[in-house]
Amino acid sequence: KKFLITGGTGFIGKPLVQTLIDQGHEVIVLTRNIASGAKGIQGKVTYITALDYVSDKDQIDVIINLAGEPLAGSRWNKKKKAGFLSSRLNTTSELLALVQRLEQKPQSLISGSAIGFYGPHADEELDEQAGCVDGFSHQLCHQWEQAALKFEEHGLRVCLLRMGVVLGKNGGPLVQLQIPFKLKVATQLGEGKQWMSWVHLDDVIAMMCYLVAQHDIEGAVNITAPQPVTNEQFAESLGRVEKTWFKFRMPAAWLKVLVGEMATEVLLTGQRVVPSKIVKNGYQFKYPELHSCLKSLS
Ligand code: NDP
Repeated sequence: KKFLITGGTGFIGKPLVQTLIDQGHEVIVLTRNIASGAKGIQGKVTYITALDYVSDKDQIDVIINLAGEPLAGSRWNKKKKAGFLSSRLNTTSELLALVQRLEQKPQSLISGSAIGFYGPHADEELDEQAGCVDGFSHQLCHQWEQAALKFEEHGLRVCLLRMGVVLGKNGGPLVQLQIPFKLKVATQLGEGKQWMSWVHLDDVIAMMCYLVAQHDIEGAVNITAPQPVTNEQFAESLGRVEKTWFKFRMPAAWLKVLVGEMATEVLLTGQRVVPSKIVKNGYQFKYPELHSCLKSLS
């Protein structure tokens, strides 16, 4: 198959691109920086800096849309939040304009979203039908999903990846979460009762490949492991893997001062998300359980 990928240079996108070329597919990656994007990739990938390089006659089978300004690593303010939204919506609408002019339409769009779609929740399990609580994370995901659903008008099957906290080795949230644990301090965030719906990077990539092949799945798909944990359980498990010496409970007030709004939107609140749709369809997880996931990444 021929794939067009945005965000194909990122933490999730790069190993996805490698997997697709290893499987013998043809891959085009849209990037702002070809040199850094191609680093470390083994095999032939076509990098483009604008969709104008795709001709109307090109036949693309699948579009995977992951590009967006990273949410972690900076304090959220009005300007930053506008950038998180516009980077995702602009890329998605550029893709839509491409699809409109392609003579032969792609079969599927697999597009990014996140479990932030559901907003903060207490202990109830959330499948793809669950209700959502409004807030910045919900708005960001909702608008990104709505932009992606427009591709259905052109006959594409659309899957919306509601991804959890993706745990992998060379980047992503684990690198930040691990810092105190590497210093031998198992650190719980606030009360520790907030749910954390994690997922191993290998499963994220395997689930994307699964969705490409399973033409009967569409709409929102939770991309999380089947056994989410509370932050307290996460700290306990990572503490065991890293063989920590001390335990520390980071007061909620400190976190709010340190990272600002991201503390209340992401770190001190959470949601207990379950991957109902893909499990019912038959997907088998490589890492269904947190401890073996963390051990594989230590
Ligand atoms: P990264 O931050 O590693 O990569 C993001 C990609 O988006 C890069 O390849 C970059 O491409 C592109 N990008 C960054 N800023 C902009 C911008 N301003 N305009 C256009 N493109 C931009 O992200 P991840 O791989 O971790 O995540 C991929 C997507 O999945 C993101 O949208 C993220 O929000 C979402 N997600 C990630 C989760 C996680 O745990 N990692 C959880 C839930 C959702 P280039 O520099 O080549 O142009």
